[in-house]
Amino acid sequence: MSIDKEKIEKAIRLFLEGIGEDPDREGLIETPKRIAKLWEEFKSYENFNMTVFEDVGDYDEMVVVKDIQFYSLCEHHLLPFFGKAHVAYIPDKKVCGLSKLVRIVNKFAYRPQVQERLTAEIAEELEKQLNPKGVAVVMKAEHLCMSMRGVKNPTSYTVTSKLTGAFKENEKTRNEFLNLINSK
Ligand code: ZN
Repeated sequence: MSIDKEKIEKAIRLFLEGIGEDPDREGLIETPKRIAKLWEEFKSYENFNMTVFEDVGDYDEMVVVKDIQFYSLCEHHLLPFFGKAHVAYIPDKKVCGLSKLVRIVNKFAYRPQVQERLTAEIAEELEKQLNPKGVAVVMKAEHLCMSMRGVKNPTSYTVTSKLTGAFKENEKTRNEFLNLINSK
């Protein structure tokens, strides 16, 4: 589905009125338009070509991209949560460009999300595209809905993980991955 900018603009205007602001004052007058444009940009991260290479011979070592900076929005408060994602897979005759792993993270991050689902969706997409021997995704994030309100504990992080195939079944593989992402 594409973005209905008109609807967003109306809603943001109403929202501003709802919190007692004057949506026509100088600083806010363009805000509904800006937010609609912002979401158009977020939505655009869903579209990219997933190039897969199938001529990798017998390469079956772990491919790891760690410390992928990501930004997402919690679906309960529409406030950002952000941090680092670590993504790994063990190829089975198919690999993709490393930048595509970053693109997959962004594809699922720029929408109302919960961190658990985001982690699982990245893993599932890699499974679907590459049919690898295993996938591992670990995400560590700060949630502004926790930091800004309620318990106000900005030093706490939420960690989620999704492991499949060899990462789930083989302790040695799993430990190799965990050592790689925990080393500086
Ligand atoms: Zn939240």
